[in-house]
Amino acid sequence: MKAPPFAYVRARSLAEAFELLERHGPGAKLLAGGQSLIAALNLRLASPDVLIDISRIRELAGIRIAEGKVRIGALTTHAEIERSGEIAANAPLLAQAAPHIAHPAIRNVGTLGGSLATADPAAEWPACCVALDAEFVVAAKNGSRHVRARDFFKGVYATDLRPGEILTGIEFPASGPSHASAFLELAMRRGDYAIVGIAAVARKANGTLSDVNLAYLGAGETPILACAAMAAAASGRPAADVAAALAADLQPWPDLYTSAATKLHLARVLTGRVLAALGAA
Ligand code: FAD
Repeated sequence: MKAPPFAYVRARSLAEAFELLERHGPGAKLLAGGQSLIAALNLRLASPDVLIDISRIRELAGIRIAEGKVRIGALTTHAEIERSGEIAANAPLLAQAAPHIAHPAIRNVGTLGGSLATADPAAEWPACCVALDAEFVVAAKNGSRHVRARDFFKGVYATDLRPGEILTGIEFPASGPSHASAFLELAMRRGDYAIVGIAAVARKANGTLSDVNLAYLGAGETPILACAAMAAAASGRPAADVAAALAADLQPWPDLYTSAATKLHLARVLTGRVLAALGAA
């Protein structure tokens, strides 16, 4: 199928993008890497009047590490994150997750901001941001606001973004030597969206884990922070008990190939592996 007709305009700055959003109103859609939006147009799942191309706005690109914080611009591509030495050193969870996103050709073009704004519950970046307790910087014509990743995802393909707003980037504390992280997922084939996956970070001292954050993808309508399992981990319970506690956290949906019970089982298996990886990190 071909996309429905639409007009196209390129914004050269953030200010111009806000002006275009205001001028075109609800019929406008932002275009970043196009790796989700163009597919949605071709499938006639979206029919905007005008695409506002923000892909050349330099102020939305790049990775910066300063004052103990990692800041990543919304237009930073999946591949730039995957290949960045600064990310490997300061946010290893993202480096571990990136190779699971789609295929190299898509990672070369698709962007962090596009993935977060799409809010697919099986996507890797949203779960990583929830595990890292990242903050999202959301800008509008008259100012900007910060939204915790944990408050940003509202449902399947639904976010806290309001009309006229643009996600400009994310920020979170840099990892240090006392931090450990692990990312695992299961997919039908390499590059497919995950059946289920887990993004995990923790502090580690004298072989003991604390502040364990476990965020799951493919296990509900949004990325899920597994509070019951985290409480079990925080009280030093064995991995089997942490995995058992997941029943209170996850309500996965069945899909064409995998039942809800199987997804919960797979999430438990991954949890055991991730806790072992954190301990060994
Ligand atoms: P676009 O497609 O340009 O935009 C997507 C949506 O986000 C649009 O609604 C757009 O208006 C909005 N948007 C974009 N940027 C902003 C912004 N800064 N502020 C506000 N709104 C914005 N993703 C995964 O996570 N895991 C996978 O395994 C995976 N597999 C894929 C396999 C295939 C075959 C394909 C085609 C895609 C796959 N994807 C996967 C999606 C891919 O990661 C996309 O790159 C990503 O979801 C969207 O990023 P984009 O830059 O391409 O955004």
